[in-house]
Amino acid sequence: MKIGCPTEIKPQEFRVGMTPDAAREAVNHGHSALIQKGAGTGAGFSDEDYVAAGATIIDTAEEIFATADMIVKVKEPQAVERKMLREGQLLFTYLHLAPDPDQTHDLLESGCTAIAYETVTDARGGLPLLAPMSEVAGRLAPQVGAWTLQKANGGRGVLMGGVPGVAPAKVVVIGGGVVGTHAAKIAAGMGADVTILDRSLTRLKYLDDVFGREFKNQYSTAGATAELVRDADMVIGAVLIPGAAAPKLISRAQLSDMKPGAALVDVAIDQGGCFETSKATTHADPIYEVDGVMHYCVANMPGAVARTSTQALGNATLPFMLNLANKGWKQACADDVHLLNGLNVHAGKLTYDAVGAALGLDV
Ligand code: NAD
Repeated sequence: MKIGCPTEIKPQEFRVGMTPDAAREAVNHGHSALIQKGAGTGAGFSDEDYVAAGATIIDTAEEIFATADMIVKVKEPQAVERKMLREGQLLFTYLHLAPDPDQTHDLLESGCTAIAYETVTDARGGLPLLAPMSEVAGRLAPQVGAWTLQKANGGRGVLMGGVPGVAPAKVVVIGGGVVGTHAAKIAAGMGADVTILDRSLTRLKYLDDVFGREFKNQYSTAGATAELVRDADMVIGAVLIPGAAAPKLISRAQLSDMKPGAALVDVAIDQGGCFETSKATTHADPIYEVDGVMHYCVANMPGAVARTSTQALGNATLPFMLNLANKGWKQACADDVHLLNGLNVHAGKLTYDAVGAALGLDV
């Protein structure tokens, strides 16, 4: 199969759909890897790295879309890319169709078969192609929060780990799923005093079993949250209610109870944010202040570490990509219900219930 990987064209997107290692694996399985010139530059992979892996460098996206049997990307295809998709072509990437009627319409019209990373499942009920980006955002959260806490950035001027004789920063993580657990691990590793809140007792028991005294955990109620937030130097928002907007767990009124210069890092901003005063920001201008409290609300945090993110995503997508290439999408999906769960569009028809329900379209 010819597997094509165009350069990402969404603004501020530096990741790439295929690493040189993934290209090498595809070639070793008898496929050709067609990589657009410069596609890996933003993630630190040169054209020479791809050539050494056995890939072919192609000058333009047009040529890739015209010749590849499968297109592997990171972000949803942009309008100009959607015009190049064709009947029978396989698209494997993040799509997020539910809030995007224009993209859905164009994919249906193209006649392509589209498998969305975000709806592929695993045997434990997880989302294996979303998890790597949650891991990245979670581990990044204390790092950007620590930067936000620095005096020159408007923060309290508190060092995460303190020093001998001076107490460390108090960090509260709301939500103990993938993002929250990775955030708590890193914050604790930096020497902070960390408490994680979750509404799932099963999850809290798991965190207690696995992490013991490394960080504390507490059941998430409005009262417990208010008390911890009042005393916190940093609060990391990491909740998710699947399919719903994030619940607002800190109100504007509560900000005046917080320490001046405390940092709120709202990782859940891509679901609307879990603090009342959150609004999405960009890497170019990531923080702002409300009532003396600093907010960091970047909606695509993994983009800040494009190389790590590309490698993490590539590790997770590789086995699925190889299965699709080796068997063809029909057989690969027939053999793996979790991959089948990723199928969102085929030959002009929607094939994913939640997208149909969100957009009022037949499935
Ligand atoms: P997850 O499902 O693994 O974890 C969410 C956790 O929140 C669960 O353990 C759940 O029990 C808990 N929760 C729900 N309601 C709660 C409440 N009221 N109080 C405390 N805990 C509560 O999800 P995840 O993968 O960790 O993702 C978390 C959020 O981060 C999502 O909104 C996701 O979209 C977002 N995210 C953002 C970025 C970014 O760049 N900003 C990147 C990756 C993920």
